Amino acid sequence: MNMMPYKTYLSENELPKAWYNVRADMKMKPAPLLDPTTLKPVSADSLERVFCKELAAQELDDTSAYIAIPGEILDFYKMFRPSPLIRAYFLEKALNTPAEIYYKFEGNNTSGSHKLNSAVAQAYYAKKQGLKGVTTETGAGQWGTALSMASAFFGLDCRVYMVKCSYEQKPHRREVMRTYGANVTPSPSMTTEVGRRINAAHPGATGSLGCAISEAVEDATSREGYRYVLGSVLNQVLLHQSIIGLETKAALEKLGVKPDIIIGCAGGGSNLGGLISPFMGEKLRGENDYRFIAVEPASCPSLTRGRYAYDFCDTGRVCPLMKMYTLGHDYMPSASHAGGLRYHGMSSTLSELLAQGLMEATSVTQTQVFEAARMFARTEGLLPAPESAHAIRVAMDEAVKCRESGEKKRIVFGLTGTGYFDMFAYGKFNDGEMKDYIPSDAELEESFAKLPKVEG
Ligand SMILES: *Cc1c(COP(=O)(O)O)cnc(C)c1O
Repeated sequence: MNMMPYKTYLSENELPKAWYNVRADMKMKPAPLLDPTTLKPVSADSLERVFCKELAAQELDDTSAYIAIPGEILDFYKMFRPSPLIRAYFLEKALNTPAEIYYKFEGNNTSGSHKLNSAVAQAYYAKKQGLKGVTTETGAGQWGTALSMASAFFGLDCRVYMVKCSYEQKPHRREVMRTYGANVTPSPSMTTEVGRRINAAHPGATGSLGCAISEAVEDATSREGYRYVLGSVLNQVLLHQSIIGLETKAALEKLGVKPDIIIGCAGGGSNLGGLISPFMGEKLRGENDYRFIAVEPASCPSLTRGRYAYDFCDTGRVCPLMKMYTLGHDYMPSASHAGGLRYHGMSSTLSELLAQGLMEATSVTQTQVFEAARMFARTEGLLPAPESAHAIRVAMDEAVKCRESGEKKRIVFGLTGTGYFDMFAYGKFNDGEMKDYIPSDAELEESFAKLPKVEG
């Protein structure tokens, strides 16, 4: 048991100096973003009205394989990176599996998640452009926390629209953001036009990421010197999150380990996209083969039951259209406890990789997820975020299959964050009151019927 280390840390000098852009190695690129008014591919100019200039350029770049990480961002990363790669010896033992299980832990920073990797990059580019502030949405609160911290660091104002049910369930998360100086508004609110429209159409709405995005975009575009930033889904976010995969690959190479299966939870796809990118690059170039598994909640099953079609990224239809696996921009997911996975769509890059058969997707129910979270907490000593526990669930299931087949597979999963702000959800689980919700086909069809009619 002591032949290999528990934790593998790269040294600071081994921190990757460039992000990796997996789109550069895709022969069939993800479909372009479409302008919501003209339905033509968006230009850099029109994107720059909503997003920071440099980030708009990254969004549209599908040819540069590597993009250098600016020195100030690298310095910031050194506060919490390289993050550890951990061998889950005790979980392996509890499962009595011949499989080796490794996890990359991204919860060791103030946001308690991988979100800070992109927040610092986005705040840096906003500051460099001379902006006054940024607006955003947050679901469970990890992204809002990450952006609040990064904004405070660079001296930017930060305005956060927080999905209402999370705002009410997680008052402590809200206070963390306020401590970093952010202004936090529950969404749908009555302070934006789109918020008022959504409240009128769905009285008592508990909110969704799609709603909060529309509000944040309206806020940014109606304020001088502000831009909107997004914590997931977009290509630029996957690019920044590639730091997770690059570090994982370097650490595994140090150990002489080639993974067989790489697993991540998928909300908008940023941690999964970041974790698998460099490995997927090898698969795309024909250098190596891996199995990639995206895990999503059965209550919000975009990859496993959604349509691959152009759709709006937000409920208010102000953002560009994206071709992705979607449940429909009007879809209101049930109040699942994995707030970070309640998004109707998915990264266009991951969607295209799934459509090409290069990646697999599966869904799991909440109670299955919390059972895995409890076992992981008890064996590995880390209390996982409910989102992360989706990946744990499937990693455990794959390890159990190895027990049955006797195969000694090497399984790597992304442990995206800690669950200390999710104790309400853990409480429901501990009290045996957690319910599973799986939408019916009829419910999904009703939502698909409202997809925009766009070719592609
Ligand atoms: C936001 C979040 C996720 C899901 O977002 P992705 O963009 O799909 O990675 C997963 N885990 C945690 C802890 C999060 O905060």
